[in-house]
Amino acid sequence: MKPIRVVVIGGGFAAVQFAKTLRSKVRGSECEILLFNRENHMVFHPLLADVAGASINVDAAAAPLRQMLPGVGCRTERVQRIDLHSSEIEFDDGQGALTRLHYDHVVIACGAESNLGIIPGMSEHAFAFKVMSDAINLRQQVVRQMESAEATTDPDLRRWHLSFTIVGAGFSGVEVAGEINELVSSSTRFYRNFRKEDVVVSLVHSQDQILPEVAPKLREFARKKMEKAGITMLLNTRAVAATHEGVELNDGRMLKGATIVCTIGTAISPIVQSLDVPKERGRIRTTPDMRIEGQTNAWAIGDCAYIINAFDNKPAAPTGQFAEREGRQAALNLIRIVHGETTKPFHFKALGQLCSIGGYEAVAEMLGVHVSGFLAWLMWRGVYLFKLPSWSRRLKVALDWSWDVLFPRDLSFLNTDTTQQLTRAYYRPGDFIHRQGEPARVFSVIEEGQVEVLQQDPGTSDTKVVAVLGQGDFFGEGALLGKIAGSFTPLRELLVKAVTRGSDFWRRLPVSKSMLEGESIASFLDPLPPQLLTKETTFADAINALNESATGNLLVLDEKQRLWGTLDRGDLYQIIARITVTSAETRGDISRLKLGDLLIPNSIYVALEDSALVASATMLDHGISWLPVVKSKDDPRPVGLLRGEKISKRMLERIAQGQPTQARAAS
Ligand SMILES: Cc1cc2nc3c(=O)[nH]c(=O)nc-3n(C[C@H](O)[C@H](O)[C@H](O)COP(=O)(O)OP(=O)(O)OC[C@H]3O[C@@H](n4cnc5c(N)ncnc54)[C@H](O)[C@@H]3O)c2cc1C
Repeated sequence: MKPIRVVVIGGGFAAVQFAKTLRSKVRGSECEILLFNRENHMVFHPLLADVAGASINVDAAAAPLRQMLPGVGCRTERVQRIDLHSSEIEFDDGQGALTRLHYDHVVIACGAESNLGIIPGMSEHAFAFKVMSDAINLRQQVVRQMESAEATTDPDLRRWHLSFTIVGAGFSGVEVAGEINELVSSSTRFYRNFRKEDVVVSLVHSQDQILPEVAPKLREFARKKMEKAGITMLLNTRAVAATHEGVELNDGRMLKGATIVCTIGTAISPIVQSLDVPKERGRIRTTPDMRIEGQTNAWAIGDCAYIINAFDNKPAAPTGQFAEREGRQAALNLIRIVHGETTKPFHFKALGQLCSIGGYEAVAEMLGVHVSGFLAWLMWRGVYLFKLPSWSRRLKVALDWSWDVLFPRDLSFLNTDTTQQLTRAYYRPGDFIHRQGEPARVFSVIEEGQVEVLQQDPGTSDTKVVAVLGQGDFFGEGALLGKIAGSFTPLRELLVKAVTRGSDFWRRLPVSKSMLEGESIASFLDPLPPQLLTKETTFADAINALNESATGNLLVLDEKQRLWGTLDRGDLYQIIARITVTSAETRGDISRLKLGDLLIPNSIYVALEDSALVASATMLDHGISWLPVVKSKDDPRPVGLLRGEKISKRMLERIAQGQPTQARAAS
């Protein structure tokens, strides 16, 4: 008999335990198991803080899936879609093509994603703490900051390099704060220019206690110990924004520091989002046996699933402990189904909580017993050591940990950064992006908000706003030219042309704005073209009219002499391109076709009552260089034409001398 195919999506606690249990109970000839996980290893999240704090080596917290799961087909393609109706998954084959694969059962165990987007600026300036690369990058960052602090002679800058802010004091926030503090404080003796007292590690938490999940006595213990170790607790405080400078708090304070770690905010994985199944706060709702509600061969387990625990009739917690049990019990249920037996509801009594707080201290709640301090730390290490997936890994981690107790932490880091091509930055109102006199290093495009360009009076230190840039505007072209073109003259000239052609910042110059607002359109008006076309004008006649026109801008009127459309050479080429892809039989004789059938009616025009500001903004927004002007909004009969170059020429004549030189975020 053909083996049934079980496809598992994910390679975390839930998926691995599921695949392991199923493989151990069912022979390969009966069941083929294919596990798709984006990475080729399972991440052991409870050890991520140790990786960031350099107390264990990176590979100790990442277990290779194919070595852990003999007999399971391990694949690293990202699953793009699950088609529950046809029982197929769709994944990218790595060459850009989508491959479909049929399954008999599918198990969704793709966890959750971190979401830094919940606080402005976090995505740009903070480290998430969820995947292995987050921990590795954070470790590099911490060591790099120590090196920078050693190198600088500016005490403020040194303090900034040595200030670390952790947002969120749940398990991962507390653990990572403890580890960073331990790494930096215990390493200061290897540096000459700073001491332990210069290091600032702050933990920002919106509630009045850290570790809300553990008993009050243990939380209090953890807080006191961490404060004693030098960590600053900012309780009942929320981070409202992150910038290059640091974290802005809800009380208006700015917590300056080069390193921000954001441990709050989770997002539903895209594949779960795309599934049209019952959900609870984004998580997939399951029946008690962990099949997706309304499905017979689709299962959901782990952090992406909303499972009611039959032990207490409460939703299962999104923790590794629960994910593992769900994986195991779902595998047993699937076997029951294959054997025609009745499935069992998910039932699990949580064993307890463990949290390391740094400095060989931890808090533990195991089977109702509360332990804190060094003993809890030993328990924490012991439990996680035995949770590790293989004996070789246990030995490796045990050696790392013993090494860490006896010897200083490793301060080397390999610079794996590639040249950063593109990044996003967040600025608060009033922040300086670029100061007068500094060479342009960054080319910036405004995605959201406004930027003021300030000029400093050489006599006094007063500044005045000389331009306001908005969405889509850019500055720092010098940096772009320098970086891209270098000394390659032809390319440089080309870029200069492109950059200056696209620049419309004059539109937002306050002086030009007020001037344009006060100018009527009439003062810029050009007369109507001598020949006015109609919807009935043939294509051949339109070409002749264009050839005879001095400006190349024509108007098309309707039966009541109202403006119906515009025509210039660009439109003509578009019509030709459109017509030539139509078969000769369908289009007939091109020259006889009428403009009414070829052109799209034009709704872009201004009325005599509009100001020159409205007219120039309309042209800039639509990327056009001329506009028809009608008598009034109620009477759209054309009265003339308006050209952008005429307005800009007048503007340039009037604008005061002086180059804008500073850029400041305005909103
Ligand atoms: C820093 C940190 C510390 C933690 N500490 C603890 C702790 O001490 N104790 C505890 O019980 N819990 C802890 N947790 C929580 C625990 O790690 C999670 O609850 C657990 O990992 C959930 O397991 P999972 O299998 O559902 O998902 P995950 O372990 O997140 O695994 C999901 C996997 O699916 C893969 N994936 C997602 N989408 C796709 C796709 N489309 N195609 C292919 N693969 C995909 C991902 O790459 C990932 O490998 C911690 C979490 C973090 C972040």
